[in-house]
Amino acid sequence: IDRNPDEPEFHQAVTEVLASLEPVVAKHPEYTNAKLIERICEPERQLMFRVPWLDDDGEVQINRGFRVEFNSALGPYKGGMRFDPSVNLGVVKFLGFEQIFKNALTGMPIGGGKGGSDFDPKGKSDNEVMRFCQSFMTELYRYIGADTDVPAGDIGVGQREIGYLFGQYKRITNHYETGILTGKELGWGGARGRKEATGYGAVYFLQDMLSANDQELKGKKVVVSGTGNVAIYAMEKATELGATVVACSDSDGYVYAPKGLNVDLVKQIKQVDQGRISDYPERSKGKAEYVSNGSIWQVSCDVAMPCATQNELNEDDAKALIDNKVIAVVEGANMPSTPDAIQAFTDAKVLFAPGKAANAGGVAMSAMEMQQNAARESWSFDYSVDQLKTVMCEIHRSCFDTAKQYDRQGDYVFGANAAGFKRVADAMLAFG
Ligand code: NDP
Repeated sequence: IDRNPDEPEFHQAVTEVLASLEPVVAKHPEYTNAKLIERICEPERQLMFRVPWLDDDGEVQINRGFRVEFNSALGPYKGGMRFDPSVNLGVVKFLGFEQIFKNALTGMPIGGGKGGSDFDPKGKSDNEVMRFCQSFMTELYRYIGADTDVPAGDIGVGQREIGYLFGQYKRITNHYETGILTGKELGWGGARGRKEATGYGAVYFLQDMLSANDQELKGKKVVVSGTGNVAIYAMEKATELGATVVACSDSDGYVYAPKGLNVDLVKQIKQVDQGRISDYPERSKGKAEYVSNGSIWQVSCDVAMPCATQNELNEDDAKALIDNKVIAVVEGANMPSTPDAIQAFTDAKVLFAPGKAANAGGVAMSAMEMQQNAARESWSFDYSVDQLKTVMCEIHRSCFDTAKQYDRQGDYVFGANAAGFKRVADAMLAFG
């Protein structure tokens, strides 16, 4: 904490991982001898830079850019970029640290990194976003590359931003190198299935977790927070597999539809019309109720999927879910549950899938985008989703088996941390 002051999210992420690694380190004295724990907590490189840009009134604005290149033991640094006013070094470090283990769990050759800016794309014109992205890449381009560091999108960074960033990279370097960024549009190097991958992947993980515990998804009532990229495709896949999604939210409130939400209507409102989820009851002709500012976790369900943002599910929310007999909690977002909430789920023996395992489908598909770019190939949607399903099944198996090896059957937090850490630690040891 003294070494990294004022970085509460980073402390939280590190504490959570290290606490569960004690039995692994005890079994492997070679990790302690090589000071692997200390090494893994220190980013290999962290970059902070000035991003000046001109707003539509011709005034200069200054934001701060970040890229934390955390660990390259398994491959080039890989992880998204977040544009949001809440972004600071601690937030980027927490996300980068989590990314190391998540990427390791995919079994693919990717290291861990993360980046972003405190720039807020909300309320900015298209031209302002473009000028910001061009300025951001004017500095970032010197540090990235298909074999070095491959950024992608995250909150506030979608295909529009990736387009402007890629355009500036190409302009500066005179290289049409699609492999330098992922999350691209299909027409110029993007992967089919990328936008669906995180949400679909989380539901595949849920399906495997339920079946490993003699349960099935069909017929279950599911609550999903958020209505962004992760949430919408989690809702879509869960519905397709026979579950009923009864509630979803945005940052203003949530909608509850006891007979199930119409996912196409949610998509139309949030993705096409750029509306708010409060529009849903009227658009669905009264088949739902809207609650502003309430906690979505008060809604009774079998499965809870927090898919919005960090620390959105606290101990009180966990208690409400447990009182309502929740069976499983699957994190679609990064670190959405507070440590107290996770403890409450563990004590109540609720199946709990941590984000670094359950939401790894997005980065797995990004690694497949890199694979397609390197081979100059383009896979079909069905083939890509099949590959995703295989990867998620392997991630589930590796978390499940690792927990079992240490006599902690059903402890997915431990399984994910231990399996991810071991893969990275063994590579770091091999490299001296
Ligand atoms: P988006 O920006 O597309 O969506 C975020 C959603 O969460 C929006 O609907 C937003 O509402 C809502 N939201 C934000 N804050 C709150 C809050 N306090 N309470 C309720 N809802 C809130 O982001 P993504 O879906 O891409 O990402 C969501 C999470 O998943 C993040 O933690 C991200 O890091 C993680 N993740 C994303 C991956 C991806 O592939 N996209 C991959 C792995 C992890 P509003 O519409 O009002 O802004």
